[in-house]
Amino acid sequence: MHELRLHNTLSGKTEAFVPQRTGEVKMYTCGPTVYDYAHIGNFRTFVFQDILRRYLKQRGLNLTHVMNLTDVDDRIIANAVAAKMGIREYTEKFAQAFFADCKALSVEAPEHWIRATDHVPEMVELIERLQKKALTYDSEGSIYYRIAKFPEYGKLSKIDLTGIQAGARVDNDRYEKESARDFALWKAPKPGEHFWETEIGKGRPGWHIECSAMAMKYLGETLDIHTGGIDLAFPHHENEIAQSEGATGKPFARYWLHAEHLLVEGEKMSKSLGNFFTMRDLYGKGYKPSALRYALASVPYRRQLNFTFDGLQQASSSVERVRNFANRLQQGKFPAGSATGMKERAARALDDFDAGLADDLNTAVALAATFDFVREANIAMDKGDFGQEDVAAAEQFLHAFDEIFAVVKDNDGEKLREMGFAVAHGEIDDAQVEARVAERQAARQQRDFAKSDEIRKELAERGIVIEDSKDGSVRWKRK
Ligand SMILES: [Zn+2]
Repeated sequence: MHELRLHNTLSGKTEAFVPQRTGEVKMYTCGPTVYDYAHIGNFRTFVFQDILRRYLKQRGLNLTHVMNLTDVDDRIIANAVAAKMGIREYTEKFAQAFFADCKALSVEAPEHWIRATDHVPEMVELIERLQKKALTYDSEGSIYYRIAKFPEYGKLSKIDLTGIQAGARVDNDRYEKESARDFALWKAPKPGEHFWETEIGKGRPGWHIECSAMAMKYLGETLDIHTGGIDLAFPHHENEIAQSEGATGKPFARYWLHAEHLLVEGEKMSKSLGNFFTMRDLYGKGYKPSALRYALASVPYRRQLNFTFDGLQQASSSVERVRNFANRLQQGKFPAGSATGMKERAARALDDFDAGLADDLNTAVALAATFDFVREANIAMDKGDFGQEDVAAAEQFLHAFDEIFAVVKDNDGEKLREMGFAVAHGEIDDAQVEARVAERQAARQQRDFAKSDEIRKELAERGIVIEDSKDGSVRWKRK
């Protein structure tokens, strides 16, 4: 195994990764705000952290990974009020959708999925600690963090704080990068809003305090790794540091990893440009979960990812190539014995694959190692230069590949059906089949046999077999 090096936003350098306790990693990931479906930009980050967690485990590290669901914030409260629902009721649908999206993308469940609304007492307790250290002030029933009292503020994002007024404050969770100011730890309720009755008054937690309180509850006062999208580095992660370190006096997270932005066809994704996609939008267009996962994983996380439909097609063919290779290994008949150099070639592929991932998760290098090997092994097989005894070494490589990339198993159809999408490319859902079969029946009744044959042929190409019974009824099945 190669030495694992990770880029730490805090130091601005790529450093050797050494956990606090040998063999153990405590990792926290900022999860989604469950007020809507997560989009592909969100999933770029979640697939990145999944690759990271899988690779840490592959290296034999014992991982404790926590991901939160932000199920209370300004948007959620506003939307829940508008929908005349409680917060839990409103967010539950999106929480379940997020879990289903993760499952479809083979994003592993962390050791702890936790919800902000289950941890309000911990947040209140952390705010009380900050109050005792005189890092807060009250105003109109809300409690604010006074960043002027935390001189290290800005050390993560290297933000220039000149021009930012001390004592200026914002209530909104969604403030823009330019408006860094004292931030709310606790917000007084507005009329009609949901609130908690607590020792520090009526209200609800600010977004930032959620992550500090929950991360420290499950992982201790100092984490090994904290991950998120680059847009969270400031102000969210900066505020997490101010809160946690302000309270404990200890470093909050030793390595901060941030995934870069995703563009769609070279442009920033936005609803107004019509290039805004949730996973479901893409499944609806017939793209497979495995191709999406591959496309999101294939660009190293610190590089901007330009998501394109051409790229998605290529991702789909790459997945097919590796699946075909896996099938060939499983079903192929190879000459007895071992071909010269083939086991060594597989071992080298494994080493190159590991070298790529150990270098700050360079997935592009790991994939290049994979496809070089697949190509060479295929050529060797074509020439009869691949022996039965080489299968195990090649399968060992493929196993290591799939522990990280998780695309070899051909279960896209199953995953899509589970999410209520019947179709991937070439597939067709039951209702569509029924409609075509009915059209064919109508054509037959009108003795339009050319059309009826055409429909039969089209369905056959899509894996549907039609059986006409003597009584005139029609049955169909999937091949
Ligand atoms: Zn967070």
